[in-house]
Amino acid sequence: MMTRFVFVTGGVVSSLGKGLAAAALAALLQARGYTVRLRKLDPYLNVDPGTMSPTQHGEVFVTDDGAETDLDLGHYERFTGVPARQSDNVTTGRIYSDVIAKERRGDYLGGTVQVIPHVTDEIKQFIRSDLTDEDFVICEIGGTVGDIEGLPFLEAIRQFGNEVGLKQALFLHVTLLPFVSAAGELKTKPTQHSVKELLSVGIQPAILLCRSERPIEPGDRRKIAQFCNVRPERVIAALDLANIYAVPIAYHHEGLDTEVLHYFDLPVDREPDLNRWHQIVDGMAAPEGEVTIGIVGKYTSLLDSYKSLDEALRHGGIANRVKVETRWLPAETFEAEDPTPHLDDVHGILVPGGFGERGSEGKIRAVQFARERKIPYLGICFGMQMAVIEAARNLAGIDGAGSTEFGPVDDPVVGLMTEWTKDNQLETRRADGELGGTMRLGAYPAQLAPGSKVSAAYDGMQLISERHRHRYEVNINFRERLEAAGLRFSGLSPDGQLPEIVERDDHPWFIGVQFHPELKSKPFEPHPLFRSFIEAAVKQSRLF
Ligand code: GLN
Repeated sequence: MMTRFVFVTGGVVSSLGKGLAAAALAALLQARGYTVRLRKLDPYLNVDPGTMSPTQHGEVFVTDDGAETDLDLGHYERFTGVPARQSDNVTTGRIYSDVIAKERRGDYLGGTVQVIPHVTDEIKQFIRSDLTDEDFVICEIGGTVGDIEGLPFLEAIRQFGNEVGLKQALFLHVTLLPFVSAAGELKTKPTQHSVKELLSVGIQPAILLCRSERPIEPGDRRKIAQFCNVRPERVIAALDLANIYAVPIAYHHEGLDTEVLHYFDLPVDREPDLNRWHQIVDGMAAPEGEVTIGIVGKYTSLLDSYKSLDEALRHGGIANRVKVETRWLPAETFEAEDPTPHLDDVHGILVPGGFGERGSEGKIRAVQFARERKIPYLGICFGMQMAVIEAARNLAGIDGAGSTEFGPVDDPVVGLMTEWTKDNQLETRRADGELGGTMRLGAYPAQLAPGSKVSAAYDGMQLISERHRHRYEVNINFRERLEAAGLRFSGLSPDGQLPEIVERDDHPWFIGVQFHPELKSKPFEPHPLFRSFIEAAVKQSRLF
């Protein structure tokens, strides 16, 4: 089957959930037996989101092949199970740096380099690149129609649609129908304006996905259809839902996948198999218990900064048939205050990934609290590093223990590694290197110690592969002293140089991992560490 392209744009306001909409559509097409690929084209000027603040832009999602990408790629993976790749996310910054590199090399010799055709050609080439005959490629355009930065992308997809023809390309526009309580009605005008904006750059959307708090009355639907030149059945209601995993089911009921198939003249005689989604949603609607997890982090003001983590905890709940309540606690609190009133009643404590010194002492106190009170503890990346510092200082008598991330320290139990091996190749990183793209990124294997708690959590597996994103490493030279203090190094890189996992034997569930397990968790395939952590939290809740 030839590849069909669906371009998803957004109008009226940002945060409409375009990424979720794209992911849900992909899940529906998959449920009808088609293969899918999802991509995100981001109009901002950063080369990648790697250096952007998580409180501004949300989490950085890392792929197996080591790309730092937009968090929407996390939704894509969680909804489809298709591992995202470097080639699934591009920004204006990346496109321009490629174009400028070509210009410097002399590739356009003699020509004036312009947005049209050079930048738009580069974007179109990106859309076509690295595909493997997928039935559908869904490309989400970041930002909102009308943004200056978005114009080259809209122009590129317009050209693309024109080149492949509308039998092979579909424009789907996600908009908002605000409810104005003074008038007591949904307003269609912003949607009309937003479609007009799209038309002004030559794009006529074929399907409108209208976010709204209330059902769309037939009159409104007709009005939108007429003003926006879209068939009424292709004005699709996307109502707010409490559970994001119910989105594919809801969109199917509203006819989204059917209309996409109609558009492409593909058969609609069968229903999609939505069993897996029903199981997830029904399970979540009827939990058999509830646990509370205290998350002691730095970017707790914006939930999106820990998106995958939040989802992975939910998946751990699905695996154990419980609801997971998350209590987000800013780590700095514990620098001035006793953690007891905040953490006394939680069933698990988690210190997630993070960067920089701020809040680190508070995280160390949270680790100590979990260790001493025997509350299940999961430390992720920075959370593992803080667990190591805690054990070094409080149990191994290494008083000057710290991380060189915060400046010079007496005992660098966490320090910068400048050389390591990957696939038998030496990788290097300079201490004074640039900040962008200089971390240990992407999938790396780890060897698990037989008989360890972590290998039990992974169902006895001995070699795992997980995604990394960090600059500093636990210093293997402190292994003996830390193990004598009860912190077992139960996972190492295959060359034995990089500690990947630490755990405690004298504790019901205490595991720190240098990687980010949350990035690979899916609702229909909860990550083993989250399944096991929540299982331990359930046991803990029975002790109360
Ligand atoms: N800041 C730490 C490092 O760079 C941890 C990073 C993280 O938690 N992702 O090693």
